[in-house]
Amino acid sequence: MKEFELIKEFFSFSQSKSGAVIEGVGDDCAVLSIPDKRQLVTSVDTLVEGVHFFSDINPADIAYKSLAVNVSDLAAMGAKPLGFTLAIALPKVEEDWLKAFSDGLQQASTAFDIPLIGGDTTKGPLTITINVLGTVKTDRALLRKSAQLDDDIWVTGYLGDAAAALGLHGKAQSRQLNNAEHYLWQQLLRPKPPIVFAKKLAKLAHAAIDVSDGLLVDLGHILEQSHCSAKIKVSSLPLSEQLTEFAGLEGAREFALNGGDDYELCFTAKPSMRNKILNLAEDLNINVHRIGSITAGEEAEIQLMLDGKPYKPKRQGWQHFSE
Ligand code: ADP
Ligand code: MG
Repeated sequence: MKEFELIKEFFSFSQSKSGAVIEGVGDDCAVLSIPDKRQLVTSVDTLVEGVHFFSDINPADIAYKSLAVNVSDLAAMGAKPLGFTLAIALPKVEEDWLKAFSDGLQQASTAFDIPLIGGDTTKGPLTITINVLGTVKTDRALLRKSAQLDDDIWVTGYLGDAAAALGLHGKAQSRQLNNAEHYLWQQLLRPKPPIVFAKKLAKLAHAAIDVSDGLLVDLGHILEQSHCSAKIKVSSLPLSEQLTEFAGLEGAREFALNGGDDYELCFTAKPSMRNKILNLAEDLNINVHRIGSITAGEEAEIQLMLDGKPYKPKRQGWQHFSE
């Protein structure tokens, strides 16, 4: 199969619903129309086989996650997706593999309403680079540096599921997962960044980040860039039933605080926005939880509280963030 046939067969599936894509795959460049009074936002992430995903994962899941983690960055800005490009290096042309990859990519493209607008295809060790483009209303992007004193701190979805699933790879491949483990494994394979919610959150919230490296690390980035600190109620961390069943309550809290790969949003907003945020979440069927607040103190310290007392996680991984 020649390169241009491969592109036509596997990477020419997108149709833009928004009308923003004037030219997509097939010309020298894609041509996009940027609506008036909006700014372009863009981000790129590379996933390397053996580093970012296990080699024996279904190609459909690899593709889905590759796009989802990039869409998550758009969500963290409160952006509306415009399109994405895919640069892929393949060791060899295996049509079955490419078909599955293309199917998974198309599922994610539809789920997040973001068309594939171009890319590049080369030979080499399996590497997937996705560049996402989106738009925000002028000066309305949700920035890490914009948290304000006394803001509420919120998170979407549940935390810790994906991190707990990392240890389940062997069991998943030999099909020995119980129901709770199967749920956790799916959370790792197919993250669902709340992109529609995020876009509408842009006018209600101050700051946001997507939780990719663990809540404490990622909230830490907001605190550093906003020159403030935070107090978190450990009993308010959103934990799935399945995670609690799998790891116990204390273990689940550990995964939620320190785990990564959630691709949920952590955001801050004025307390007066609570009802609007809850209503928006309900309308869109998104779980949101208020887990704490922004406090004074430029040192970006995170105070964890449980039953009115400081909480010390068993695993001390969090400590270097509060030093
Ligand atoms: P050029 O040599 O001008 O870079 P290419 O042969 O690399 O052209 O690409 C031809 C067209 O196919 C371009 O529109 C490019 O964006 C698109 N394309 C190439 N690879 C991919 C891919 N993996 N996914 C989507 N579009 C692709
Ligand atoms: Mg090219």
